[in-house]
Amino acid sequence: MITQAASAASVPDSSLKAGDSSITVGFSEEVPQAFRTLVENWVHDAADAVMTVYGRYPVKQVMIRVEVGLGGHGVSSGRTFDGRLIKVRMASDVTRAILRSDWILTHEMFHLGFPDTEANWIGEGLSTYLEPLARARAGQLGADEVWGSMMDGFPKGLPAAGDMGLDKTPTWGRTYWGGALFWLLADVEIRQKSGNRKSLDDTLRAILVEGGTGSENWPEEKIFRRGDAAIGMPILEELHERLGAHPETTDLAAFWAQLGVSRKGRAVVFNEDAPLAAIRRALTSGKAGH
Ligand SMILES: [Zn+2]
Repeated sequence: MITQAASAASVPDSSLKAGDSSITVGFSEEVPQAFRTLVENWVHDAADAVMTVYGRYPVKQVMIRVEVGLGGHGVSSGRTFDGRLIKVRMASDVTRAILRSDWILTHEMFHLGFPDTEANWIGEGLSTYLEPLARARAGQLGADEVWGSMMDGFPKGLPAAGDMGLDKTPTWGRTYWGGALFWLLADVEIRQKSGNRKSLDDTLRAILVEGGTGSENWPEEKIFRRGDAAIGMPILEELHERLGAHPETTDLAAFWAQLGVSRKGRAVVFNEDAPLAAIRRALTSGKAGH
């Protein structure tokens, strides 16, 4: 035990920058330089993705602890602690290709920039929603992959028979996918009502400016109120009243048709004449639509 602790302590950290922020990467054991470089590139990719939403890295500093070689395939798990520490587990034979397709670190980094709150679906849904969009904006994922994963995932978030609203149904599907659908509906509505000049990004940046990082615990009302104040419309509060308190369902087929996204076999097909096609494009480009 003592020798293990001593050897772990002697493994040097990697010090990285993301904008003005510092990211320290620590390893559970000595790793070859090539492995260290793979991990550093993966951290940079995830930071780049997160910065497409916030315009900067959400916290001044963070520690990423990499537990190496504990089994599994690629990156097997991630968890964020108190807005300052992310722990990830990763196989020692992980490759650049596996890390390029990993979603876990980007998901965890979004937890750094958003307050904890009693209802888990709010933060978990947000990380689930933002992760593929942000990776698309950073050029790491195709728009077709983003929409394919949404069409596959969102049905798991709809209320099942006997479910209550999101606030009262903490199942896996409702927490991650039901939460993600809440944020997609909110983002689309903000863009629709602002002529695509405002977006969910504005609400999230405002919450962060108010100190709403992962080190904070906010009541959910405060999150939605601060977000709505940034866009000058009570969209988050009203959507929360509907989906948080009641098992309101969403007609996903109609929603995808409005956004102009469908499947032809396994392929994802876009309809650029759909009423919300510009908003759909803006979601994955990060730019205002037209
Ligand atoms: Zn999460």
